[in-house]
Parts: sequence; structure tokens; C-alpha cells
Amino acid sequence: MEKRIYNFSAGPAILPEEVIKAAQEELFCLPGVGMSILEISHRSKVFDKIHAEAKDGLKKLLNISDDYHILFLQGGASLQFSMVPLNLMPPANKADYIVTGTWSKKAVSEAKRVGTVNISASTADQNFIRVPKQDELKLDPGAAYLHYTSNNTIFGTQFHSEPDPGNVPLVCDASSDILHKKIDVSKYALIYAGAQKNIGPSGVTLVIIRKDMLERSSDSIHTMLNYKTHTENDSLYNTPNVFGIYIIALVTKHLEKMGGLDAMYELNKKKAGLLYDCIDNSGGFFKGHAQKDSRSLMNITFTLGSEELEKKLISEATAAGFDGLKGHRSVGGLRASIYNAFPIAGVEALVSFMNDFMKRNG
Ligand SMILES: *Cc1c(COP(=O)(O)O)cnc(C)c1O
Repeated sequence: MEKRIYNFSAGPAILPEEVIKAAQEELFCLPGVGMSILEISHRSKVFDKIHAEAKDGLKKLLNISDDYHILFLQGGASLQFSMVPLNLMPPANKADYIVTGTWSKKAVSEAKRVGTVNISASTADQNFIRVPKQDELKLDPGAAYLHYTSNNTIFGTQFHSEPDPGNVPLVCDASSDILHKKIDVSKYALIYAGAQKNIGPSGVTLVIIRKDMLERSSDSIHTMLNYKTHTENDSLYNTPNVFGIYIIALVTKHLEKMGGLDAMYELNKKKAGLLYDCIDNSGGFFKGHAQKDSRSLMNITFTLGSEELEKKLISEATAAGFDGLKGHRSVGGLRASIYNAFPIAGVEALVSFMNDFMKRNG
């Protein structure tokens, strides 16, 4: 079999090796079913069980109460940029958005099609090197909700605690850090996340919505865009991503086995710490993009003295078996995405490669 390389891709991203192997083993035939997961009906008992396992797994890991629905939708996190305002903005028709990067800007542009957007804070003038502090937020007590992006995948910044929205419902795009640590779900009205970074394959989007928020969804909203359609049909109004939900079930089981989200958080802090220490101890050879207090544990962004040197590092790294390190074009430089499934051995290997590269080129 081919040897797997170290995959630093920002998304779709690495999945736990154990999950890939389990899926591979069961792909020809689910045990006792005689068919693969790719071939079974989403209305079958077999799928019911898998679907329930995925929901229960998330419920347990995040301690989600019965006040919430757990949905598996399609259209990516990007469709949630529209569904959130379409469903939740009325009747106030205005909402607060914190702008901390490319994804929150995209969320804002869809919300503007529905109503008035108040930018509570933006760090655009600093090229998104940090997330705003609580006392910088200009919050409208009459807003329908406050929307923020918990981890900025492209810029490598992260909120280390959620903003306090006051009495306004809090909505979060958690696509790139969901399940990286325990969060207090009860503080949120809605959390959404494309699965392909930290919980599964692309093509399935997790939505955790507090039941009272559904009162806002008007019947005039198109059926597929209405959260009520999906809660009333338990994500089965149309054919869901059966395979994606199956993988999420496996990932939640794997995380439970790893010791749950507190254990993952410790591991994630350790992994990111190794890379940030390497950057900080390089005497300026590597420069971190994010301000220290806003650094992401998931996406580590950094630059080198010149583009030429960056190209050289990427090409040598690729040859050495490190893939996906090229930074997003809006930041440049490099980005190491080290989600839950990324092994610490891979981080250690990259750090030693970076130190060696610095010795040869510094
Ligand atoms: C990747 C990403 C998205 C876009 O997700 P899609 O599933 O491709 O629509 C949105 N928000 C954040 C924070 C992301 O990292």
C-alpha cells in the first residue's frame, strides 16, 4: 500500500487514520447488511442507526442539551451565510457581524441581501492579524443576532472565548475549529460548520440550532432554505450525504476514544505550541502572521523574508513528504493546518525540517 504523507491541507483536510481504515474495511459491505454505506437508503433502519450515532456522538462530545436540534445539511458553510439571515433576521431585519477575515466578509455580503448589517468590529485595516476584544464591539441591543467566525482559517486567528452578545442570540461559523475543544453550546443560538475541516468529508454541514429560533423561520422561505423543513424532517427532507454522516459518526467515536474534547484541546495546544515556538525562536527568520493573543490552534500562518525563500521551503517540504503548506493567496507565505486528526509526530517532523531549513538558509 502507498505510504501516507503529512497532509497540512486547510480543507478538505486530514481525517483520523483509524476512521479511514474503518471506512475502508466496511466499504464493500457494512457488517450484517450486505451492502456498502454508499448504496443504502437514507430511510433504512441501518442508516437510522448511523444517523443517530452521529447525532449522539456530537451531543455527548459537546454536551448539547435537548433544547437544540442537530442537523446535517448540504451546500457547505457557504449556504449557511444565506440561511442564517433568511431565517433569523426577521422581524428586526438587522443583525450584527464581527468581521475577522474572508469567511466573515462573505457571510456579511449574503446577510446584506436580507437586511441591514451592522459591522460590530472589523480588523480588516490590519489585514486580519487579530480578532477584536470585547470592549471594541459596537453591539446593537435590537439586532436579530450577533454573528462571528470562531476560527479564521485563512488568516490563522481564533477567538479563544466567545464574544458576549448581551441579550442578543449568538451565531457562530465554527467550520474550522468545531470539536477542537469543549465549548458551552448553551451560549449559542446557532452554530454551523462545514464538515471538511475537523469532523468529516466535504458535502455535509453541521447545524446546531436552538429550538426557539425556529419561531423566526417564515413559511415564505423556500422549502430547502427553511430550517423548519430540516428540523421537522430530521435532516431527511431530501437525500442527505449518507456517507458524510457515516464518517462523522466514526469521527465522534474516535474522539471519544481519544479522551474527549478536553484531551483533544490539550493535544491541540501542544501541537500548535511546537510550531509557534519554532517561529518565535527563529530570530525573525519565520514571522507569524497572527498577533500572539489571537493565534489559531488550527491554522498556523507565517511568512519568510522573501517570496523566493518561501517557494524554496514549500518545494523542499513537498519533496520531503509535507503537503498543503502553501498559504492562501490573500496572506501569502505558509499555512500549516493542524486540525484534530493531524498527528503530533507530523508537527514534530515539520518543526525539525523548518529548523534545518533555517540553518541552511538563515
Ligand atoms: C472553509 C470555510 C468555509 C466555507 O465552507 P464551505 O463548506 O466550502 O462552504 C466557511 N467558513 C469557514 C470558517 C471556513 O473555514
